[in-house]
Amino acid sequence: MERVRKAGDIYKGVYEGLYCVGCEQFLRDGELVDGRCAEHGVAPEPAKEEWRLAKEASPEAKDRLATVLYHLVEALRVTTTLLGPFVPHAANVIAEQLGLRSQTNSGALAWGKTVPGTRIRRGSPLFPRRRAT
Ligand SMILES: [Zn+2]
Repeated sequence: MERVRKAGDIYKGVYEGLYCVGCEQFLRDGELVDGRCAEHGVAPEPAKEEWRLAKEASPEAKDRLATVLYHLVEALRVTTTLLGPFVPHAANVIAEQLGLRSQTNSGALAWGKTVPGTRIRRGSPLFPRRRAT
């Protein structure tokens, strides 16, 4: 993990853009009409937000995001392997969503075992909230 951080693949970044308070999101140039939010009619304010690599449209940002997401999936895969003996059902559900067949093979804790391009399946909550009756 330290090697990944030192390579710059995991880092804390800051996104800067124009933020509309009404929309509660950053707006891109194409979403503005005469410099104003099309929905709220107000000029968005310059703002900074952390963890917003996904909002950048450049190919470099997309590549960067893919690398960051790969390492996040790897961290989840290794964590799932470590949790297996303690919460086997939850670990199996996560492994299934990550497209993993087995978490018990030797070398499962080595970094880089996830095949690049693996599609992650959206799942239901592992520990859903109890509803008040
Ligand atoms: Zn707005």
